[in-house]
Amino acid sequence: MKRIEAQSIEGIQKQLANVQRILIMTHYNPDGDAIGSSLGLYHFLMAAGHRVDVVVPNDYPGFLQWMPGNEKIFLASKQPQAVLEKIEQAELIFFLDFNVLDRVQQLEDSFRKSSAPKILIDHHPNPEHFADIIVSTTEVSSTSELLYELLVSMEGEQAIDTNIAECLYAGIMTDTGSFSYNSSLPDTYYVVSRLIEKGIDKDRIYWRVYDNYSVDRMRLLGYCLNTKLKVFPEYGAAYLSINRSELKRFNYQPGDSEGFVNYPLSIQGVMFSVIFIEQDDYVKISFRSKGDFYANRFASSHFNGGGHRNAAGGYSELSLEETLEKFESLLPEYKGQLLENHLYHAD
Ligand code: 5GP
Ligand code: MN
Repeated sequence: MKRIEAQSIEGIQKQLANVQRILIMTHYNPDGDAIGSSLGLYHFLMAAGHRVDVVVPNDYPGFLQWMPGNEKIFLASKQPQAVLEKIEQAELIFFLDFNVLDRVQQLEDSFRKSSAPKILIDHHPNPEHFADIIVSTTEVSSTSELLYELLVSMEGEQAIDTNIAECLYAGIMTDTGSFSYNSSLPDTYYVVSRLIEKGIDKDRIYWRVYDNYSVDRMRLLGYCLNTKLKVFPEYGAAYLSINRSELKRFNYQPGDSEGFVNYPLSIQGVMFSVIFIEQDDYVKISFRSKGDFYANRFASSHFNGGGHRNAAGGYSELSLEETLEKFESLLPEYKGQLLENHLYHAD
């Protein structure tokens, strides 16, 4: 497990030796890896005697709000002024689980203006070079897994306490869909085994994340699968869409549609699945694929997004109907790639 350059580790150690106030920042609509890696690093830095703030741009689902230290997180959407002051006062800033600065949305300018040294730790392809030290590889399941390696390289295994282990495990588990994708390299399981040795209860973490939904969410899922699923067997693709009146009807709460996009992938022959969710002024889109179909390239070419090969996201400023039409009109162009991929994986 030597995925981080010695020079980066030394650089980070040098920075840490010089500063008191540290800010940890993650991306808009934070997911389990964003929250898990941020809080894991928070506990590590607090134990080393720093003054640490964790900031996220906006709110996140209840099934991610149980991790130790969660109550310390600042939401920029709720406390914009306090967050701007924290950015100005920070002597060192960590950016976790994203690699293009516009994913912090309204805070982007403040970070560009900040003269504090910046460290990026992430696992997405093609990082923007906005940080002084970049620890980035796509050869890991998650930022949490990469952070484990960084922390152990700096301070040894004894620096990982149960709180840190719980946060990092939650990040790895959620970014791999509970080890169903992005998790084919042995090192992921090495890290998981070390985290389990720290005394975490992995089954309980699973329940807290995946068995923690509301009845409304379950009924929305049933409704979508029953009436909103469109399958294109001739292209190996399928999508779900939810409009605003449906969201209202099912008392939609942030995070309720999490995981919906994975369901169509379990249909035989479907290698590319998409969900479109109508927001107030745009359509939020999630893409999932199997095997060699690059969902991230599709997202960045047509829907202002990006991400990983098999899990990507983006948005559209067209109406929901126009967005769906645009998506359907693109499928023939990808028929070759989708079906080639399908045959390859049907073996
Ligand atoms: P999700 O579908 O869970 O929102 O996002 C899946 C993955 O796609 C995320 O882990 C992230 O890597 C990427 N992603 C989601 N939304 C965006 C976006 O708007 N821009 C970019 N560049 N990547 C995104
Ligand atoms: Mn991640």
